Amino acid sequence: MTEKKFFGTTWTDVSGIPFPLKWYRELFNLHHYTMSGKSLDYWQEYKETQFWSPSQWQQYKDERFRSIVQYAYANVPFYKKLYDTHGVNMASIQGIADIERLPLVEKSALSLGLGDLSFQGDAVNESSLLIRTSGSTGARMSFTCDTEQLDRRWAVWMRLFEWSGWEWGSKEMRFWYKYASTVKNPKVEAFDAFLSNRHFYEFDLLDDEELAHFCDEINRLEPFVITGYWEAIEAIAKYAHRNNIQLRVNAILPSTQVAPPRARKLVMKVFNCQILDKYASAEFSGMGHQCEQGELYHVQSENVFLEVVKDGKSLREGIGEAIVTDFSNKSTPLIRYRVGDVLEATRASCVCPRTLPVFKRPLGRLKNVVRVGERLLTEVDLADFEFLLWEYSICDRIKFVQSSESDLVVLAAKVQDEEKLKRELELFTGVSSLKVIKVDAIDHFRGKRHRGESKLQNVFNN
Ligand SMILES: [Zn+2]
Repeated sequence: MTEKKFFGTTWTDVSGIPFPLKWYRELFNLHHYTMSGKSLDYWQEYKETQFWSPSQWQQYKDERFRSIVQYAYANVPFYKKLYDTHGVNMASIQGIADIERLPLVEKSALSLGLGDLSFQGDAVNESSLLIRTSGSTGARMSFTCDTEQLDRRWAVWMRLFEWSGWEWGSKEMRFWYKYASTVKNPKVEAFDAFLSNRHFYEFDLLDDEELAHFCDEINRLEPFVITGYWEAIEAIAKYAHRNNIQLRVNAILPSTQVAPPRARKLVMKVFNCQILDKYASAEFSGMGHQCEQGELYHVQSENVFLEVVKDGKSLREGIGEAIVTDFSNKSTPLIRYRVGDVLEATRASCVCPRTLPVFKRPLGRLKNVVRVGERLLTEVDLADFEFLLWEYSICDRIKFVQSSESDLVVLAAKVQDEEKLKRELELFTGVSSLKVIKVDAIDHFRGKRHRGESKLQNVFNN
């Protein structure tokens, strides 16, 4: 037994005691303050729904979509005004096939004020959770999630755990940024962590001392899954690789940041495991979960409808802007919402028997897309390039800062070889005259480090 600090509270870490699921349900109100025991029912249901027939899905999506649109129009002044202004004939919205008749909802709508977009009638009670987005796509926004949405979020998350082979009680290690705002009630969350056999580790600077400790702990605890910030997982893998430390875990379920291909390869090698990535946002939590039988991401269709839109049209293939419709959350309905992310659609299908639709991969935030000459570079491109620079000992971290189409500078931290850096930059961008500024360090931005920072307008839909 060891004493551990957990986001300001101290608790005792009793490793490896799986708590019976039946009792976990009985105690639900003690370890969760915004969710209900219904989440466990959704979790059980979702084990079946992932294999539904096309006609079952059609009926489900039509009903859920019609229901949330009608609810929003009747109860939320924002939607009534928006749809009336756009001349939407509400009687024509019968099913999911009609979705493109509805206008998109801007992220800034969330800042119009809670009285306009949410807190409607009895859909909100004291258990609704107030969420503030991190501001990584622009200004920080506030909105509420009702219990149904939170329950359903949890259910798809548990299903992803199961795709990794995890079973209730299997040991989890989670790496979380020390100053993240998402741990809202540390005592309750520590209790839930204890019952769920989840071992929380806060990270801060990800320096050698911290990384050496994490490697020791991974080898001591031998967790079944590792979850948490990709940034921490990648840093641990790099440290272990450079110091010849072999780590072992069955699966890694990262979140909060994109996982670029080169870094993924190293993490899989160092940990000798598979990675099931999660495409998520503060507003909806998990929307796309990576399949254990392939590389594609399954849309979590019980909860959301996902579109990839470019020049106003839904894409079947290629890169565009993510547009999300949440089938629940009556406290802040989000319908055709511009979540601010870039996704790649694909016509390919997954090799597994699940009937959840797929997309190819998340590519980061719209705000992180930079334009160099004719090329659009997403966060994944930039992060992958950064990994290459690290791998060849050229520099540690980079950041592309674009203040206008013609004004782009590259910050580079701990540069070891300036000539090589210039050459690689030219190869990567196709441009030889990029301005490089050497800096001592590039820090986290609220725990989420981005390699691109751009003031460009929406490059996919204007
Ligand atoms: Zn699959």
